[in-house]
Amino acid sequence: MAKIVVVEDETDIQQILDYNLREQGHKVFITASGEEGLRLAREKKPDLVLLDLMLPDVPGTEVCRRLKGDAATSGIRVMMLTAKGEEIDRVVGFELGADDYVIKPFSVRELMLRVQAVLRRPTGPTETSAHITFGRLRVDREAHRVWVDEEELELTALEFKLLVTLYDRRNRVQSRASLLSDVWGIDSDITTRTVDTHVKRLREKLGAAGAYVETVRGVGYRFADSPEEAGV
Ligand code: CA
Repeated sequence: MAKIVVVEDETDIQQILDYNLREQGHKVFITASGEEGLRLAREKKPDLVLLDLMLPDVPGTEVCRRLKGDAATSGIRVMMLTAKGEEIDRVVGFELGADDYVIKPFSVRELMLRVQAVLRRPTGPTETSAHITFGRLRVDREAHRVWVDEEELELTALEFKLLVTLYDRRNRVQSRASLLSDVWGIDSDITTRTVDTHVKRLREKLGAAGAYVETVRGVGYRFADSPEEAGV
């Protein structure tokens, strides 16, 4: 059972979500207002906020920005509900730290599966052990050494950081802009192509293990959930 805040102003969708989430045993708090959603998030400390982007008062993207920007609520998972064609909002949402999105109109079954998947993910910083073993990939963080199968790779410091950053947030999409700011320390959207160039080079060096770094069209990159998922 999880606590879920639903911020959605369409009453029919409110009702569908309320009914189905409760049926799965979740505790549900519903509001049509972004401001009220923020208040509920602070007060109820939910496990997940389901967030519509087109709200009557505050845009959903702004709600997400404020949730993720406040230490009291930044650990709460956010799943955005976007209308078809709002790709820009989706990209912005990931940059703001949303954990997933569902495009309306959605199938209730699919939405419930996605909710369960997001709830299974750990929140907050993932554990960082000194050694990573993921399928055919092995990384020694402290020594900055990387192996695929038993062969050691020569990665630049940037490529190493890029690989580890993607790994640490595996199964979450990383936008080019957020990678630029976290790996390169640059806040700019002019040079996002730099990210593509480096990811391409990193993949080439990783060889077979390059399949672990997946492209999410129109958004950015993500590290595979499991080696099996990547098929390597
Ligand atoms: Ca709406």
